[in-house]
Amino acid sequence: MNNATSSSPNSSTAQAAPKMAPFGSVFAPTMGITWYRNGAWTPAEVVPANQLVLHPGTHALHYASACFEGLKAYRLADGSVATFRLADHIKRMQQSARLMSLPEPGSEQLRELINSTLRDNQASVPAPPAAMYIRPTLLGTELSIGKAAKPSSEAVLYILLSPVGDYFEGGMSPLSLLIDDEHMRTAPTMGMVKCGANYAMALPHIMHARSAHGADQVLFCPGGIAQETGAANFLLLDKERVVTKDLDSTFLHGVTRSAVLELAKSRGMQVEERPITVQEILEWAARGGEAALSGTAAVLAGVGNFIYRGEHHAISGGQVGPVTLELRQALVNIQLGNAPDPFGWRAPIA
Ligand SMILES: *Cc1c(COP(=O)(O)O)cnc(C)c1O
Repeated sequence: MNNATSSSPNSSTAQAAPKMAPFGSVFAPTMGITWYRNGAWTPAEVVPANQLVLHPGTHALHYASACFEGLKAYRLADGSVATFRLADHIKRMQQSARLMSLPEPGSEQLRELINSTLRDNQASVPAPPAAMYIRPTLLGTELSIGKAAKPSSEAVLYILLSPVGDYFEGGMSPLSLLIDDEHMRTAPTMGMVKCGANYAMALPHIMHARSAHGADQVLFCPGGIAQETGAANFLLLDKERVVTKDLDSTFLHGVTRSAVLELAKSRGMQVEERPITVQEILEWAARGGEAALSGTAAVLAGVGNFIYRGEHHAISGGQVGPVTLELRQALVNIQLGNAPDPFGWRAPIA
């Protein structure tokens, strides 16, 4: 990873030891890029990843006409590189583009842009437990601050790559979640869109949870029903079952969530997709169950504590639970090619 570069001015130490750098702060040298103009995409190019020139009047910078994806590529034991559930991430990016009124890239176009970017940066893909985080990004680039109520007629699509270390380097510490039954993470129709505006809306609540309660994250439960945290899906687990919210437009349909559910089913566990009340979470904790968050970055992270109306409720003895650890390991084994892939989730980049 000596050729990994960073556009961040103060990351020279990060460059020397990328595994120690904060997640997403080091970037691979090049990115694939294509522009949408006059109703068509320009031929894809691979260009240096440290510069993108945009006019200050660019639509996305004012009216949030932007969305992104987040997936990973892993270096397998035989030295080859494979993405994880690429087709599902492509579908979700297309859905986000539609819901943000942005031009929708084609499936093959997106796949080839991602794969060609990875091939160009193959030497920067680190060995496990590190991985290459892939950030496809779509921005409305029409030069107009007058189109507040109209979509951008132009766009740029680029594939940024970031070598990332093990999310749990130094141990997998259990998370403390503030249960917030008052606020929503974002507008109910926008939850299923992977866009930056959703993150900005959740931020004040997350900052408050940290400063006022010492929590790591907020579990948004408007009306007493758990949706998700700021950037990860929420699951209850025990030896027999995995329970998580049924899909609707209020929260992000995680690819990791779906992988955990399919994996649990294949291991003979019962999978329940249905509303989870705050009451049930507290009872689940009291009777010895487990809770976890799922997402590409952390895969499956254990919850050790809930804070609700000022009171702490430990879960799985304040530790990461054994079912969580086992499912996480099973998933990582598939991602890294250390276990068979009966679901067809790995895709070689060549
Ligand atoms: C990306 C994301 C997730 C996790 O999705 P994965 O596909 O599992 O990475 C969950 N919640 C939000 C809000 C997200 O943006």
